[in-house]
Amino acid sequence: MSRPIAVYVHVPFCVVKCGYCDFNSYAMAGPIVGRTVAAMRRQIQQSPWRGRPAQTVFFGGGTPSLLPPDMLRALFEAVLDAHPPLPELEATAEANPESATLDQLRAMRSIGFNRLSLGVQSFDPGDLRRLDRAHGPEDAERAARDARRAGFERLNLDLMFGLEGQSLEDWDRNLDRALALRPDHLSLYNLTIEPGTRFERLHREGRLNLPDEEVQAAMYVRCAERLEAEGFRQYEISNYAKPGQECRHNVWVWRGGEYAAYGPGGVACVLEPQGWVRRTNLKKPLAYCLAVERGEPPWQEVEAIDDATRRFEEILLGLRLNEGIPADGLPEGPLRAGESRGWLERAEGRVRLTPQGRLYANDATSLFL
Ligand code: SF4
Repeated sequence: MSRPIAVYVHVPFCVVKCGYCDFNSYAMAGPIVGRTVAAMRRQIQQSPWRGRPAQTVFFGGGTPSLLPPDMLRALFEAVLDAHPPLPELEATAEANPESATLDQLRAMRSIGFNRLSLGVQSFDPGDLRRLDRAHGPEDAERAARDARRAGFERLNLDLMFGLEGQSLEDWDRNLDRALALRPDHLSLYNLTIEPGTRFERLHREGRLNLPDEEVQAAMYVRCAERLEAEGFRQYEISNYAKPGQECRHNVWVWRGGEYAAYGPGGVACVLEPQGWVRRTNLKKPLAYCLAVERGEPPWQEVEAIDDATRRFEEILLGLRLNEGIPADGLPEGPLRAGESRGWLERAEGRVRLTPQGRLYANDATSLFL
């Protein structure tokens, strides 16, 4: 049997473009949606990785729950036709509350998705307005409950902290409301200001009143404290799960596994006979459609990854995980530097970030550059 591969499907459409978002997502509707889905099916059908079993399937975006069920089904069936699923396949779909109606969630569950990741971000109406989100706090609570009614046993909630004007008490209240929904997984991200976003412009103009670094660090520490008391385990810098409920797709990627990617802007990373290769699909939906319709591979970039780069990427990704990476073969200099700053620790033949190191993860991993 050929080697398993994780499969990522990128649905690039959203109701609105959020001011902080640098994902490949577009507030588009109309004929371009169906045209893009048709092109995605064709890319999957003509995939160079066809026949490799699906380790996991992940529909991300953008907003996959925005697609009508017939389009989602067509894509899902195309994926399983190209990539025979391994037993007990984990199939995740991202969803946003405004499009995660009970009917839509039931349809998604019947298509074969068995894990839902809901973009909540905050339960504060002011936060949601400032973030340009298309939903209100009650929509998120309703969608989380409907996900359970629709049969999703595995439910992740995405939240962000370090938001404009947010206090530690506000963040605590968000955690309370998230925990009341009984998710088995939480992804808790510190807001980052990404180049080219509306938030970057506001930040540059001094018009974003973000909490101090110390407050943001306290919010981060609070995540682990609160969630561990509720039976969650932190397994990655921003991710917490009940035992056995870790996102297998993301863990596979962080451990350096191969992944295919379909859809505009999707990024695949595969070990080919000549070495590791990263392929990025064309980002704009129309350009992507035109390439696929002409019968051309829709790559925007094909990058051969040399051994040193690959090694650094393995360290970068592996250190995100609490399990860390094997100490064998790691250069002693950066390792000692990380230990002396209190960012890295060695135990049982592995190296991992300390709780302090997780606050400085970028600095800690760049020691190995
Ligand atoms: S809903 Fe998500 S992907 Fe879409 S614009 Fe907002 S943050 Fe980006």
